[in-house]
Amino acid sequence: MEQSLRIVMVHTSHPGNIGAAARAMKNMSLSELFLVQPHDFPSAGASARAAGADDVLQSANVVTTLADAVAECRIVIGASARLRSVKWPQLTPREAAALARTESLQAPVAFVFGRESSGLSNQELDLCTHLVHIPSNPAFSSLNVAMAVQIISYELRLCRRSNEPSTDSGTGEGPASNAQMEGLFAHLEQALDEIGFIDVRRSEKLMRRLRRLFHRATPSRDEINILRGILSAAQGRKSMRRNARS
Ligand code: SAH
Repeated sequence: MEQSLRIVMVHTSHPGNIGAAARAMKNMSLSELFLVQPHDFPSAGASARAAGADDVLQSANVVTTLADAVAECRIVIGASARLRSVKWPQLTPREAAALARTESLQAPVAFVFGRESSGLSNQELDLCTHLVHIPSNPAFSSLNVAMAVQIISYELRLCRRSNEPSTDSGTGEGPASNAQMEGLFAHLEQALDEIGFIDVRRSEKLMRRLRRLFHRATPSRDEINILRGILSAAQGRKSMRRNARS
């Protein structure tokens, strides 16, 4: 069961940035916003920039300290415009999203965004378990905070989509499982032996190459069934011939 993924904005000065961040979050299906001592909130400026994501603003948790915002979180990922010293594990946005998705199965995960003027203080960074830096021009690396929220939210979205169970799981169009592939290989080896193409005692190398070939093709469950049907037919024909001879 997935726990929450929360976006925490620390001491944000411009209400418009809070609104734009709420919009960015809702676009990517995130909803939990924590605001640590925002300078001006609630505010018409935030609502205007939220452009329909007012629900995210209305349910935002306004708290006094960053410690309050991340109290139940085990993983706290600080977004930093600068590459910092090696004190914290530094992640790319993609790595951070993958970590967050996995860890949020256990406990809420927070992404923390700093002030427009000065980012996150050292004390705030001390509460972070990891840092994420959005690769950017080293001579001009600081993004607008709402845009940084957008990029991280997008990575979280991509990561969710690729982890979602496939919608075709009930049909045969989804990729064959490892067990289904193994079933194919065993059947193939048996059929190749029966038709006299290989001697199973000396077929290891060839079977390895065939495995590589089929794995590269990533067949669907339906395709595995077709291949196994062909193998069964070849085996049947062989035994029919054998029967005809005997
Ligand atoms: N002038 C500040 C940057 C403030 S930008 C500084 O030098 O630290 C406001 C916030 O946006 C940052 O604290 C950070 O959380 C986020 N941010 C901006 N650019 C970023 C980047 N390239 N990677 C990760 N986060 C970034």
